[in-house]
Formats: sequence, structure tokens, C-alpha cells
Amino acid sequence: MLNSPVLTLNTGMVPIDICNVREAVILQVLKKAEAIKVDENQRIRSQYLSLPLPRVIMLFNFHKIPRKKVIHSRLNIIYRDDMRCQYCGKRYSVDELTVDHVIPLSRWKEMPHNPPFKPNSWENQVSACRRCNTQKGNKLLHECHMELIKNPVEPQYMPYLVISKQKANKYGWIEFLKYNVRVVDMIDTM
Ligand SMILES: [Zn+2]
Repeated sequence: MLNSPVLTLNTGMVPIDICNVREAVILQVLKKAEAIKVDENQRIRSQYLSLPLPRVIMLFNFHKIPRKKVIHSRLNIIYRDDMRCQYCGKRYSVDELTVDHVIPLSRWKEMPHNPPFKPNSWENQVSACRRCNTQKGNKLLHECHMELIKNPVEPQYMPYLVISKQKANKYGWIEFLKYNVRVVDMIDTM
């Protein structure tokens, strides 16, 4: 029970971290945080205290929202694209998506001028379902009559926390996950 996760909010009620019950209780005892949501049916008891099990805590002295540097990775390309295939526009799970090179690597040399980006970059890589990726193959967009649903660019900002929907439901966090969090169907290592 002491290792159960606890959602940690900053002073502005923005989720910034996940700690465990043990850490959350220490923060409460030190008056550095207060419990915003508890499980009344379970209590933390020791010689000196008895507290309902915290599920969400708010830190008193932390105003910032930590921002993550956006690392160029397969997973972040998929998250940037909101888990949608950028050709057919359908939403998939992370597992079902691939990353497609808009200008295929094998065709890079044919580009008349050097494009203002690199082959392996935010600008040339998009999420694609397997079907669209296969259909596109090593063709250029006009050759296969396919279009991108949006122009791929480097993201300026990514939510700091990635939390699975299952976990959020299990611990009653959903109502607190409006900002700074990406709620996903399944969790990947990021
Ligand atoms: Zn598709």
C-alpha cells in the first residue's frame, strides 16, 4: 500500500509528478503538501499518525510546470501526431503505428534542392498505419496520390507526464488530468 502511486499537483493544481504513498505521507507530515483526494476506506496508521490513504496531493510551494525537452523519437513522433495515421487520419494504438519518411530515404538524393530539413527529422517523419505505410512504399506523395492531414513540424511542447487511462481510473485521477498530461490507452517506456 505504501508503494501505491499518488498524483502530485503543483500549487496551481497542475499535475507535475507521481510519487508513492510513503513519500506523500512524509510530505503531508512535513506540511509541504496536503491531500486533495483520499481513499477513506484505507488508512495509513503508525504510532504517531492515522491518515486516509492519499490518492492526489498538492504541494504548497511549487508553482512551476516542468517541461520536458522534446526528444526526437519514434514514440514522440506518434504522440505529436496524436496517435493518428497522418495519411488516412484514423487513430490507432501506439503499437499499431509506424513512422513513415514522407520523402523516402531512398529518394532523398533525387531532391532537386536540398530540403531545409534532414531525412530523419520531425519535418520528414510522420505516424502512419501499416496499411498506409505499405501503400506509400518508397513513393513521393504526388506519385501515390496521398496527402498528409497536417504539415509535420518540430513540437514546441510536450506534456510532462504520460499516464495510462487504466491507472488514472484505478486511482481516481481523471478529473485532475486536464493539463500537462497525456492520457494514453497503454503505457510505453518513454
Ligand atoms: Zn493510415
